[in-house]
Parts: sequence; structure tokens; C-alpha cells
Amino acid sequence: MSVADPRLGRPLAAPEKIFDAMFRPTGVDGVYGRSGAYEAVIEGLGALITGMRDERAEVVRFPPVVSRALIEKSGYLKSFPNLLGCVCALGGGERGIGAAVERFEAGGDWTETLEASDLVLAPAACYPVYPMAAKRGRVAKGGLIFDVASDCFRREPSKDIDRLQSFRMREFVFIGAPEDATAFREAWRARAPRIAETLGLSHRIEAANDPFFGRGGAMVGRIQLEQQLKFELVIPVRSVDKPTACMSFNCHRDHFGEVWGLRGEDGETMHTACVAFGMDRLAAALFAAHGPDIADWPAPVRTALSL
Ligand code: ATP
Ligand code: ZN
Ligand code: MG
Repeated sequence: MSVADPRLGRPLAAPEKIFDAMFRPTGVDGVYGRSGAYEAVIEGLGALITGMRDERAEVVRFPPVVSRALIEKSGYLKSFPNLLGCVCALGGGERGIGAAVERFEAGGDWTETLEASDLVLAPAACYPVYPMAAKRGRVAKGGLIFDVASDCFRREPSKDIDRLQSFRMREFVFIGAPEDATAFREAWRARAPRIAETLGLSHRIEAANDPFFGRGGAMVGRIQLEQQLKFELVIPVRSVDKPTACMSFNCHRDHFGEVWGLRGEDGETMHTACVAFGMDRLAAALFAAHGPDIADWPAPVRTALSL
């Protein structure tokens, strides 16, 4: 028995009913080719989000790989070492590399002599923007706003259509005074539900915490929850009872300001905040709500996405 979605008045489309409309399997869980229809939805979502962008925002698109040193300095290893993917390449010069290939061809393991490179796979879109801004010098009154995006990787293989290893994240990032960072986050928390409304999706906002690694991590998560540093906009994708986080609204306080030396005009440490849009989860939520065939989606939804 599936529960009816309160907004749709009927159950969601089952994952197995929409998978083929969205994805092409590649043999790896959470790593999929994407259909033309799915990409048209992603493009429509992108344009909808662009339409809500602050006119002051500077647009930066990052590649799917990031400097390893940057991610190390950001504190990612302490918080989510289990999710991080590192780019490795064969070392040992021509002889060593040749030997690895020979091992492989003889049925052995070529990966034994892999060496970590100076790159990791981007775990979120906003990490590179903080050092980039810090290099420009003091942050003027009123702060800075960025519109960033990248393909992201997280080592959390799953057969669920809303938990991918490779997915796309779009973010608006604010760098500035503490009260302005909070106001930015609050403004987006108030504004973002309109996106779900426009898309005909059930939604609610919940206080949340990040899945910090290990026993010490659970404590950090509790503090994050208590201090309301993270909210999520959740939308039913696989279950009406357990909706999926499709956007998040985050206050980092002075974390990135301290790490990168982001300073205001009077030398005060800057606070940062970001709103993240999980593009692939939003697309999956749309297929789950409105079905595999875009032609059958409600006209206002198709109009909003230029479909
Ligand atoms: P969850 O608790 O569901 O794992 P998260 O707290 O890890 O989500 P964030 O770190 O806030 O998510 O990432 C921002 C957004 O990126 C999320 O709101 C979600 O829409 C998207 N996202 C995160 N992880 C994945 C994933 N594995 N597959 C697809 N989208 C994801
Ligand atoms: Zn962010
Ligand atoms: Mg997660």
C-alpha cells in the first residue's frame, strides 16, 4: 500500500516506474547516464533558479575536481572523510607505470602503485569560493554574493534514485558580516518554498544536521541541530513519509572566515552562509510527483521549466 501524497492526492510514481525515463545504467550504483528528458528538466530548473538570483551575484562554475590541499584546509577530512574521493594516478616513472600495466595484463592488480594526486573530487560546490574571495583582500560592507555550481562526488553508493555518487549542486553563497549572513540564509529559507510551489511539489522545511563522521561527529551534529545552523527543504521522492532533502540552507558562522582569513573593512572575521540546490534530487522529485512522461506533467509546471 502506498500513501497518497497530500498535494497530489495520489501516491508517488514508484522509482522503478520512472528510472528508465531519467537514467541510463552504467553498471555502478549511483552513477548514471541521463536521458534527454531528464536533462531538459535540469536545464529548466537551472533557469528557474537563475531567475531568483541576486543581481549582485558573481557567477563561477567550478570543475568536478578541487585542489586536495584546499579541501584538507577546509576541514573536510575531520567532518566527512568517509565521503571523500581522491584522484590517484600511477607513479614510479616510465618503469613503474610500465610494470603496473604488465601486472594488469598478467591478471594482477595495477592499482597497487597508485599515488594520490594533488586533486580530490569536489564534495560540494562552494569550497573553492572562500579562498578565491580571500585572495581579493578585504570584503566591502554589504558583503559578497556568488552563484556557484559543480558536479559533486560523494562515496555513498546506493540503489536509491535520490542518493547518487555523482550529482550536480548549485549554490548561492554569501560572505559578509554575521548579521548579514544570517539574514541571507533566512531570506532563502523563506523564498525557496516558492520554487517547490511553482513545481507542484509537496514540501516542508526542517532543522537538520550534517552526517559528521564518527562518535565525535555525532556531538558536532547535535550542536549544529541545536543552534539551527542547517535547514533542509524536503520533498517526497521515494516516500511521502520520509521525504528527501532537496535544498539546504547553511550558516557556517566564522568557520571559513577563520580558515581562509576572510576579513571585513575593519579587519573583523567574515561569516559565510550558503543555500544549496540538489539539482538531481529536484529533478527526481519532479518525475516522482508528475510521472515518467513529461507531456503528462501539469501545464503550469511545464511552463515554469520551459518544457
Ligand atoms: P543527506 O542528508 O540527504 O545526505 P546532505 O545533508 O548530505 O543530504 P548537503 O551536504 O546539504 O546534503 O548537500 C546539498 C544538497 O546536495 C542536498 O540538499 C541534496 O539536495 C544534494 N545531495 C547531497 N548528497 C546527495 C547525493 N548523494 N545524491 C544526490 N544529491 C545529493
Ligand atoms: Zn555550500
Ligand atoms: Mg549526505
